Amino acid sequence: MIDTRISGGIIYPWMNDHWSFFLQRLENDKLAHALMVEGPAGIGKASLAAAMVAKLLCRENEPGACSHCRSCTLLAAGSHPDYFDLQPDEGKQVIKVDQVRALIGKLDLTTSISERKVACIHPAEKMNAAAANALLKSLEEPAGNTVLILVSDNPARLPVTIRSRCQAISVNQPDSQLVLDWLQGNSDKGPEMNQAALQAAGGSPLRATQYLDSPELDAYGQVRAGLARLLERPGSVSVVSSELGALIPVDLWRWLSICVGEVIKSIMTQQALDWLPANPKLSGKPLLELQRRADINRQLAATPVRGDLLLHDWLIRWAEQAI
Ligand SMILES: [Zn+2]
Repeated sequence: MIDTRISGGIIYPWMNDHWSFFLQRLENDKLAHALMVEGPAGIGKASLAAAMVAKLLCRENEPGACSHCRSCTLLAAGSHPDYFDLQPDEGKQVIKVDQVRALIGKLDLTTSISERKVACIHPAEKMNAAAANALLKSLEEPAGNTVLILVSDNPARLPVTIRSRCQAISVNQPDSQLVLDWLQGNSDKGPEMNQAALQAAGGSPLRATQYLDSPELDAYGQVRAGLARLLERPGSVSVVSSELGALIPVDLWRWLSICVGEVIKSIMTQQALDWLPANPKLSGKPLLELQRRADINRQLAATPVRGDLLLHDWLIRWAEQAI
């Protein structure tokens, strides 16, 4: 499961088709003047857009961008005169109309180095109504040889008039087995940790890699150890409770839910878990209830409710599974 590294961006394995589509359109001179790279957060859309930008500007005729021509060198240095990056100003939440107007002004000028001018707007849904309106004119009558690439996690928040004028490149949440294979080739944490990280990341591969590099996975290890200990020694609830109580509550409950989910899955598939002592008494229904409570308690973690009591109560119920 290998990433394709293009000067400026990475094509993850789940984006191969999107990249081929883009290259084909470009080769056949059928690429629209405006593209919308859309899909859930954390799957690498910005990276795909960066690879497209590099390819559109590169002066060599290679399958990707060459990475050594003047265009590629300037782009890598962040000083390409034909490339414009538009995002909210630092500390701001919206892309304002003045920013869009300034961009349109620059796109009207002739190119300096490359065959075309390219602008990337991300996250595109951060454009306020006036900004979107200003951009619309440019989408209707694009200046010279320009390509606009909009990147959005949430295209539904953009006006239909904008969306309908963009060629959509929709990247869906990749299949979890594909991502697990990819994680396997990109981390040394092992299949169980990869699975847990992907689950904690809500299926987002790039967030999963962040989890794998963060101390949060230590918390996952502590949660697993605590749960295993309680099945062997149900009387040690107070000790385990005070140990796990030191973890950040939101993380703690997320991991508890994930761990119980792993146990439920292991019962269904009859595959033992490395971290859990064999226990024939564990059964699906009470475990589902425990998982449900963990999810509820995660929501409650942001409220002033006594988290230590919730945890103690939850662990008692878990320990009862062993009796
Ligand atoms: Zn190049």
